[in-house]
Amino acid sequence: MNILIVEDEPVLREGLTDLLSNAGHQVELAGDGLTAAQRGLDPSFELVLLDIMLPKLNGIEVCRRIRKARPSLPILMLTAMGSEEDKVRGLSAGADDYVTKPFGARELLARVDAMARRIKSVPAEPEIIETNGCRFDLGRCVAKRGNQIIDLTARETGILRWLHQHRSRAVSRAELLEQVWAAQPDMETRTVDVTVANLRHKIERNPATPRIIVSVKGVGYAWGEP
Ligand code: CA
Repeated sequence: MNILIVEDEPVLREGLTDLLSNAGHQVELAGDGLTAAQRGLDPSFELVLLDIMLPKLNGIEVCRRIRKARPSLPILMLTAMGSEEDKVRGLSAGADDYVTKPFGARELLARVDAMARRIKSVPAEPEIIETNGCRFDLGRCVAKRGNQIIDLTARETGILRWLHQHRSRAVSRAELLEQVWAAQPDMETRTVDVTVANLRHKIERNPATPRIIVSVKGVGYAWGEP
């Protein structure tokens, strides 16, 4: 994959470059938020590895800007240990996943590989789903409600795809973490709730009474129309 690494700490930046290059990826570096927000718009990048604490423009804002222009580009955030707020803000800004610093080489490569697999596993057939006044084109990570075009992140698309494929039953948060996030055991189920809440705001006519992704008490979530 062609990866944009956004990190201002030289030691970590070098480590990430070596690690990902040795694993066969192409990498480019950005050392501050402004550069990252500009380079991230380049369509040749397939993944962005994004630190949050950055000079000039913080990673959350960088994420928001890149996400706006490239809705389906996978973005992996690097967050400081214990900073739950950073994780939530990152996910709200459209990041697909996060890795907590300090991370091991194997953990990071596993996350990157999981993202690469997800990109490749998108079926070539169009995935059109119509429900509750919303028309989804999951293969292209977009939805449409009336004349409004709604851009979906890779993660949001993954959630919709999984729930729709298993619409005859409810799906637990743990299952979503495993299937859509390829999650490590330390990931919290709150991650799922934050992402679903954002998604509902984008796709539901009334997010307070969702019809497309419904909550199933004591279990998790389900596709609204079985
Ligand atoms: Ca930093």
